[in-house]
Parts: sequence; C-alpha cells; structure tokens
Amino acid sequence: MVQEQLIPRGISDERVLEAMRTVPRHHFVDHALQSRAYGDFPLPISSGQTISQPYIVACMSEALDLKKDQKVLEIGTGSGYQAAVLSRLCQQVYTVERINILLASARKVFDQLRYFNIVAKLDDGTLGWPDQSPFDAIMVTAGGPDIPQPLLDQLADPGKLVIPVGDHYLQTLQLLEKKEGEITLRQLEKVRFVDLIGQYGWK
Ligand code: SAH
Repeated sequence: MVQEQLIPRGISDERVLEAMRTVPRHHFVDHALQSRAYGDFPLPISSGQTISQPYIVACMSEALDLKKDQKVLEIGTGSGYQAAVLSRLCQQVYTVERINILLASARKVFDQLRYFNIVAKLDDGTLGWPDQSPFDAIMVTAGGPDIPQPLLDQLADPGKLVIPVGDHYLQTLQLLEKKEGEITLRQLEKVRFVDLIGQYGWK
C-alpha cells in the first residue's frame, strides 16, 4: 500500500508513511472484506458509511503537518482507521461520530490495538468539542456544504483544518490555515465523501 499507492502519488512525509505502515488497516474493516483492506479504494463499513481510500487518508494526514505534542480533533470516526493513523502522529486525538454502532466498534479496535491516546464520543461533530478546544488541527472526514463555524472557532492559532466541501456527489478538499489571526484557504484534491450530517452540515 505504501510503496505502490502512497509514495508514487507524492506522499513524502516520513512520519505519515510510517504511521500507515504500522496501523493494521484490516482490523478496521469487516471480516468479509479483510483481503481487500489494503486495496487502492474506499470500502463499505456498516450503516452505509465508508472507510476512505488509503491515499486520501495519507493526503489529509500529511496536510495537517502534525507534531508529536499536538492535539487533534477528527469529525466522523467511522471505522476508526483515520483516527488510528492520527494517533501515531500526535499526542492526543479527539474523535466524534454520530452513529453509535460505528463508535462502539471503533472503540473496541482502539482498545485491542492499545491506542490509548484516542478519545471518542457520540455527538454531532459539526458542533466540535468545545470542552477540549482549542485544537492544533481539525480533520473532517465527511463532506459538508460549508466549513462549520464552531470548528473554525475551536481551531488554535496557529492551526490547520482539512475538510471536504461541496455537494452530495463531489467535494474539494480544503486546507484552511489560521495564523496570526489571518485565515488562508488552499484547495487540494477533488474527492467524494459521505455526507456530513448535523446542525452545521447537511440537515
Ligand atoms: N474517518 C472515517 C471515515 C468514516 S466516513 C474512517 O477512517 O473510517 C464518515 C463518517 O462521518 C461516518 O461514519 C458518518 O456517520 C460520520 N458523520 C457524518 N456526519 C457527522 C457528524 N455531524 N458528526 C459526527 N460524525 C458524522
């Protein structure tokens, strides 16, 4: 996966490559799909949701440029795979999921793999996690019509936020950077994520 999919497409951050070499992706998918866990595509998880293609996980992780002592918020725990990758790159991961069975199974895998620096909760992630803010970085792994204002407010300065923004079928990965009170936006890849559903997402 790392040699054939990530490096040839330009992922070069050694810490991201190492995290993706070590996190066992097959633990995060159904038994029936385990032989395809490292393929170059997204896979279905339960409740009509998906675990992102490995390249997209790498691309979003690299965009946040995480340091070992940082604190990250992820919206859309899903299988837990992205949170697991993030947990290898920073000090503490907070992740929010709105579907209980996904949250429960992700938590189980975090425990099995002894990834103790991930805290997961059931909530509408478009509201962020105010009690634990500010965050050095925020990653949204579901596509919304806009960048939710609470997430902007809970982003530290300096801080980076990555989110797919667009319609239900196609989004652009946006990388927002907050620095000395100023915000800059950069467009990364065109992507297709499941809907971000919530108060500041799709209704
Ligand atoms: N990061 C996940 C990708 C899961 S797909 C992984 O590595 O597997 C996106 C997830 O976002 C779905 O599980 C969906 O239920 C969740 N989601 C959508 N809207 C949400 C919201 N407002 N708050 C929290 N989770 C949300």
